Amino acid sequence: MNKKGHVLNAVLLSIGLGYLLEPAGDVATFQTIVMIGVPVTLGALFPDVDTAFGSHRKTLHNLPILVGFVAFPYVFGNLEYVWIGVLTHYVLDVAGSKRGIALFYPVWKKEFGLPIGVTVSSKRADLMMMFVTAAELIIAGILVFRIPQWGFSMGRQLLGI
Ligand SMILES: [Zn+2]
Repeated sequence: MNKKGHVLNAVLLSIGLGYLLEPAGDVATFQTIVMIGVPVTLGALFPDVDTAFGSHRKTLHNLPILVGFVAFPYVFGNLEYVWIGVLTHYVLDVAGSKRGIALFYPVWKKEFGLPIGVTVSSKRADLMMMFVTAAELIIAGILVFRIPQWGFSMGRQLLGI
């Protein structure tokens, strides 16, 4: 996926997440979109830095890098939400593009991709990006709305009420 695809994916995902978390469509929604959207978009641009430093789709396209971004806010107290951008970049490269990425680099250099992917220059790349974004938002919606309910009913069962 090219830079345009990654930026559009990050922006659309952030707008969707903003509405999932603050559905009212008011100032709070807009604030949430900006709060999430800026770090997510920056995070989505980061992995392709390995086109200049290291080996593309390997050095900055792997799970250890993602774990680092997930852990960073807990250790240093900043860079929240950047990991979402890195993750969505990986998802788009794995699902939306033909080549795939080296998820287990540097241990294993094999690049993983789904067979549904299209080439970076394909006319269908934008359509693929929209499809991947929609799928991500459906999963995020399930996580936001379903899991608290499961937690709630499990908690009730544990308490016997
Ligand atoms: Zn990439």
